[in-house]
Amino acid sequence: MVTARPQPEEPRENDPQRGLELTCMSNLLSTSQERVYFKDRLSRFLLVSEGWIAAYAPGRTAGDVIGKTDFDFFSERHASAAFEDEQEIIRTGEPLVGKVELETYSHSPDAWVSSTKMALRDDSGEIIGTFGISRDVTAQIRAEQALLDQAQQLGVQNERLRELDGMKDEFIGLVSHELRTPLTSIIGYVKLLRDERTSEANADQYAEVIQRNSQRLLRLVEDLLFLSQTHSGTMHVELRSADLAEIAQSAVEEMRPEAERKHIDLVFSSVCTPSLPVDATRIAQLLGNLISNAVKFTPNGGKVEVKVGTEPGKAVLEVTDTGVGIPAGDRDRIFDRFFRSAIATQQVIPGTGLGLTIAKNIVAAHHGTITVDSDEGRGSTFRILLPLKQVPTTDVQDLAAGQAHRA
Ligand code: ADP
Repeated sequence: MVTARPQPEEPRENDPQRGLELTCMSNLLSTSQERVYFKDRLSRFLLVSEGWIAAYAPGRTAGDVIGKTDFDFFSERHASAAFEDEQEIIRTGEPLVGKVELETYSHSPDAWVSSTKMALRDDSGEIIGTFGISRDVTAQIRAEQALLDQAQQLGVQNERLRELDGMKDEFIGLVSHELRTPLTSIIGYVKLLRDERTSEANADQYAEVIQRNSQRLLRLVEDLLFLSQTHSGTMHVELRSADLAEIAQSAVEEMRPEAERKHIDLVFSSVCTPSLPVDATRIAQLLGNLISNAVKFTPNGGKVEVKVGTEPGKAVLEVTDTGVGIPAGDRDRIFDRFFRSAIATQQVIPGTGLGLTIAKNIVAAHHGTITVDSDEGRGSTFRILLPLKQVPTTDVQDLAAGQAHRA
């Protein structure tokens, strides 16, 4: 028997009931796997059950435990807390029921127990110590914790889905608006064109407006199509040797009318770049998006610079503007689908939040990187590095995992 207990008093011959009680207690303690303990007023052990020894002092004998305290088995923090609880019970006589506490040991992993402790009274009712039972609830607490973590994760996912749903609604609104504006203009100018009173000079001007708006529509539809294709993983890029400076220059010229309208100084420069394997249409689309953003987010009279250069093994494309800049908190999100910063929505700057997602995907398809460096209120620089040598695969498989980074 491993129970730690003081020598029980010899049962008085004329008190068989007391003898029976002691025998029952002895049996209970020596077999019970529950962690039962009796302590004196100074919280020194008087008796402990077999379960207590197995849990807290394996391999030790009952004699080792008697007279010792929690400080001999648990960490100082845990033993002090237990001591205070027991002193409170002795002071008040009030039990402590089902207290879940973390048991910390010096040399074993922490565990959770649910403890119930009560005052230990002698025959006259005087409190002579405490007794209690502690149940290991580590598995239950861990399961509850795992459930809580899971619930929290689900909550976060739910919130994200709600956010995405909201963004999609907003996106549909934006796309409808982006489609309606040029369409309304086209319809209006077609009417004017058909009007007999329209002069030839005016007709040319109207045709130009119609063409510009049709191109805007086409670009939007192409963006949408491109994105739906990349999302289903079927986008195919055809890499052919091309002159990056040439592509960049025409992208700049395409944006020049809009820059001039805003009196923005649009500058292009390039150092000699070797031809490299790219999908010229896609690179033009990428640059178109970046330059159009730079012009869009730069107030009248600002400057936008497009540079083409090289660094070892890589071609470098840079689009720098003196515009509104990007708040630090937004920089990680600007490449996300549908993301538009507060300034874009507040100032009703046209857009759908797709341009940079497309840019990121095109760069990924070329095995390159795109980074942004920005100073809020002073401007931004988008920097793209493209490998000068062809990388074997040309199919874009998982563009969602594209390589966009903040500088
Ligand atoms: P859109 O331009 O249609 O809003 P984009 O995906 O091209 O969508 O850009 C996402 C967001 O990134 C923009 O709404 C804007 O807040 C920010 N952004 C992109 N380019 C610039 C820039 N050059 N200057 C400041 N903010 C920019």
